[in-house]
Amino acid sequence: MSEKDGLRTYRGKRHFDRTSEPSGERARKDGDEPVFVVQIHDASTMHFDFRLEVDGVLKSWSVPKGPSTDPQDKRLALPTEDHPLDYQDFEGVIPQGEYGGGTVIVWDTGTYRPTSHDRRNRPVPFADALDKGHATFELHGRKLRGEYALTRFHGREEKSGGSAAKPTWLLVRKGRTGQQTQQTGDTAVGTPDPHRARSVRSGRTLRQVADEESGQGREQG
Ligand code: MN
Repeated sequence: MSEKDGLRTYRGKRHFDRTSEPSGERARKDGDEPVFVVQIHDASTMHFDFRLEVDGVLKSWSVPKGPSTDPQDKRLALPTEDHPLDYQDFEGVIPQGEYGGGTVIVWDTGTYRPTSHDRRNRPVPFADALDKGHATFELHGRKLRGEYALTRFHGREEKSGGSAAKPTWLLVRKGRTGQQTQQTGDTAVGTPDPHRARSVRSGRTLRQVADEESGQGREQG
């Protein structure tokens, strides 16, 4: 996940004449707070995509079980390629046969505030905190609110493959058990059910998005 990679990996995986996903032309506006988005992606395996705006792209992790509001739930978060900022608005169906084929809804979105500090209690730039493998941040979403941490650990135990083990991260709600913030909408305390969860943008479920897109046909990209 080097900064220089930018969106090359993202663009290289996709055919923009076949998918309605954005190619990433949008630049950020100065002064805006950095954004986060959590999408639910019903691909070959159901997962949540957790994305944080860092240095002009959306740093991304695939979180199989989704973020939990319970500090005792440590959620596996697997890094994926940087996504363009305008991906925060993407909701729809990626055609089968294309990379990530399946339905996407925007489950939650909002802004975040980095909260990492060094030993002298000075704020650490968020990109530096991620590079070092531990970053904390406060989410100001419609559903997710409160402080979370992303922490990297290396899967050295895995000997299969031979290539260097991919880094694995944990996404964890900070705070004591029982202190989780009140959740709104479809979120029970703990983890949302991806089949029942609704888009924060359109109110639709995955099923409704899939049905509407297939009903309309693909009129145009
Ligand atoms: Mn995904």
